[in-house]
Amino acid sequence: MIYRDFKGLKLSGLGLGNMRLPVIDGDDSRIDYEKAAAVIRRAYEGGVNYFDTAYGYHGGTSEATVGRALADVPRDSYYLADKFPGFSLENVSRVREIFEEQLQRCATDHFDFYLFHNIYEKNIDMCLDPQYGIMDYLLEQKRAGRIRHLGFSCHGEPRTLERFLDAGRGELEFCQIQLNYVDWSLQHAREKVELLNSRGIPIWVMEGVRGGRLVDLPAETMDKLKALRPEESAVSWAFRFLQSVPGVTVVLSGMGSVEQVEDNLATWSEDRPLNEREFAALTEIGRNLFAKGTVPCTACHYCVSKCPQGLDIPRLLRLYNEAVYSGVPAVSGTIKEISPDKQPGACISCHSCAAVCPQNIEIPETLAKFTEMLGTKE
Ligand code: SF4
Ligand code: SF4
Repeated sequence: MIYRDFKGLKLSGLGLGNMRLPVIDGDDSRIDYEKAAAVIRRAYEGGVNYFDTAYGYHGGTSEATVGRALADVPRDSYYLADKFPGFSLENVSRVREIFEEQLQRCATDHFDFYLFHNIYEKNIDMCLDPQYGIMDYLLEQKRAGRIRHLGFSCHGEPRTLERFLDAGRGELEFCQIQLNYVDWSLQHAREKVELLNSRGIPIWVMEGVRGGRLVDLPAETMDKLKALRPEESAVSWAFRFLQSVPGVTVVLSGMGSVEQVEDNLATWSEDRPLNEREFAALTEIGRNLFAKGTVPCTACHYCVSKCPQGLDIPRLLRLYNEAVYSGVPAVSGTIKEISPDKQPGACISCHSCAAVCPQNIEIPETLAKFTEMLGTKE
């Protein structure tokens, strides 16, 4: 395992993001504990010492799973990261209650790393509003040693990231951003990296393989990559890219199986940053990878609990992208297997989902377009 220095700590370059643990019957809120614990323990034994969770992951069951899976290893042998869910109005007035609940769920008395979760244009004012006192409270917890290092994750534009950093009174020590070779240009990740580098803020990475979309690349893309480095897989290209970006300290990966852990451990057993030519080739591939008209859903699932119709929005958007890429016949069989009240046409256009989407996807409009493409309506 490659380790990176952060203020004298030795953090594993690969961190385990506990938002894609194995689940039962495809139900995101029902973690298969035995399988999940095997993933967590294998990562730990393989040298991963950074474990990331959040209040809302897996319908609120991720925190307890991580705490339980690591209960019998020394607490000072790993770093635990959790986040304050300030992306939702119902949470912002409950920082004390939520923080205590999180400690309890994780069965710990402190968090090594704690983040404002998902700062972006729609919630930055709420998170900084003095009436909720979120920053004051978290800084108080930091002084009390219950938070060792405070940071934030950001899906917003570079100027939003900068504004939050400025509001952080010099106390925000790291920033987690969505970074991969597609978002280098698509989601302004390059600008964010440059900004964070200029402020000396270490970078934590989420969505390094873009919700799994960089795991399977088209054959002609793989041919180009194989010509440069025959031995690398699609996933390792994504990680080698991240090993090449200055300031990147921890790269989170949501691993859903022990096999995936093994693959990632193998990639992270060595530092093999890209040379200039390889970097340019990969970012060019990233620019061309997504066909015009697709939507940049990362399958974060933030929107799912907001949908009154119970639609599996990330799945529908994935099918939409597939239909845009490959044509409607490529998805029509799968759509037919979905019950009519869960198909895109069941969307009532209430916009609850779009209000929380960190990618600013126009979800109801996209589902309406998809319905039109499919020629179906409930
Ligand atoms: S706009 Fe459609 S998909 Fe979004 S929450 Fe409302 S019903 Fe669900
Ligand atoms: S539509 Fe937006 S909120 Fe929903 S899963 Fe995709 S990226 Fe996340």
